[in-house]
Amino acid sequence: MSSPVHLREGLDIPGEGRQLHDFVSRLYPWCRSITGNGLRDSLNALKQFIPVQLSEVPSGTQVLDWVVPPEWNIQDAWIADTTGRHIVDFRHQSLHIVNYSVPVQAKLPLAELKPHLHSLPENPDWIPYRTSYYRENWGFCLSHNQLQSLSDGEYEVRIDSTLQPGHLTYAEFRIQGESADEFLFSAHSCHPSLANDNLSGMAVAARLAQLLQGRRLRHSYRFLWAPGTIGAITWLAQNLNSLGNIRGGLVLSCLGDSGVFHYKRSRQEHASVDTVIEHVLADSAPGHVVEAFEPMGYDERQFCSPGFDLPVGRLSRTPNGQYPEYHTSADNLQFVKPAELGGSLDILLRIVETWESNRMLRNLAPYGEPQLGKRGLYRTTGGTSGNADEAALLWVLNLADGAHSLLDITKRSGLPLATVSTAINHLEKAGLLTETNGLQK
Ligand code: ZN
Repeated sequence: MSSPVHLREGLDIPGEGRQLHDFVSRLYPWCRSITGNGLRDSLNALKQFIPVQLSEVPSGTQVLDWVVPPEWNIQDAWIADTTGRHIVDFRHQSLHIVNYSVPVQAKLPLAELKPHLHSLPENPDWIPYRTSYYRENWGFCLSHNQLQSLSDGEYEVRIDSTLQPGHLTYAEFRIQGESADEFLFSAHSCHPSLANDNLSGMAVAARLAQLLQGRRLRHSYRFLWAPGTIGAITWLAQNLNSLGNIRGGLVLSCLGDSGVFHYKRSRQEHASVDTVIEHVLADSAPGHVVEAFEPMGYDERQFCSPGFDLPVGRLSRTPNGQYPEYHTSADNLQFVKPAELGGSLDILLRIVETWESNRMLRNLAPYGEPQLGKRGLYRTTGGTSGNADEAALLWVLNLADGAHSLLDITKRSGLPLATVSTAINHLEKAGLLTETNGLQK
């Protein structure tokens, strides 16, 4: 490995975890959405870590097959009973309002209100998270226990929201390395009061960016915080000319719960990013799970759509939809833990260290095996069986075709990383091997 970068030296991981949890706690009450001031304020809050750059894309802008929607903002929303008491109040919990609800001022009987109420019979204490981005509608979410306790009679409903031409906001931060090749970290930022699904990824990405800033790095890193789906699509549409620089990437989500790490491979399945992350997890994340690509999930769906086919995987602890608290009020500040947030930051730093160390290699004498004995690299007595050091030389020479990296060769040969690294050093010194430019897709 050439000049390895040590990013974790002297880092107090438990302390890091506590600071990340503090940040998640500060943003937790805010009502984020795919547009609007809750999203904008949350992206501005990332400036606590790094000077992110915000982009504002006007409503109505065509982005790939989609159109940037009107901007939604909400000031207040409640349901009151006949005594005027607010029985459901958005100001207490942003999940109470169906995200993107249109303004409403009405009095209506329970029977007419009920189609607009959402609950979770299977978890009767929890409030669900619901959205209606692309169909004008309104609604409230509440616990099933509360829904069942509502008596017949008239209710007053007030939703003080606006749905008007405005902007979709996303935030970026780029760190220039020696090479223009980029690694993309992306975290969706559109969920309201949900701690694991959304805030954990946003926070860990921001601190990671801060720790990489100012380091001498071989590769460049781009960080993106954008609303799910429409935000990633908007960003892709606006960056069509620079996507060719992306040599690897990770969607970050659900990084604060107590589950083991789950890595979802890129659509390419065996890109450098897949090899690097599987190597790090095998090394440092007991019990981790590697999952094949599928076109469901978060923004890896957009980055890995066939026209782009970017080598972007996804790192989570427990993935979306695989924990009962997912998209409910139980995905809260107790569900995400400082230790797990800190552990996720630690794994991401290891991933960057490994990404920095990994190299694509090319054999400079690829026609037949070069004669290693005359270069002092091979045993001089024939007929004996080789050792691991010699096997490593042969594996490196054979796989170094410009399309395999140090880690690819380690994985395919089954030899220890250190043995393969030593062989690479010997072959480079002998003039038989060179590093090719950057990491290929
Ligand atoms: Zn979600």
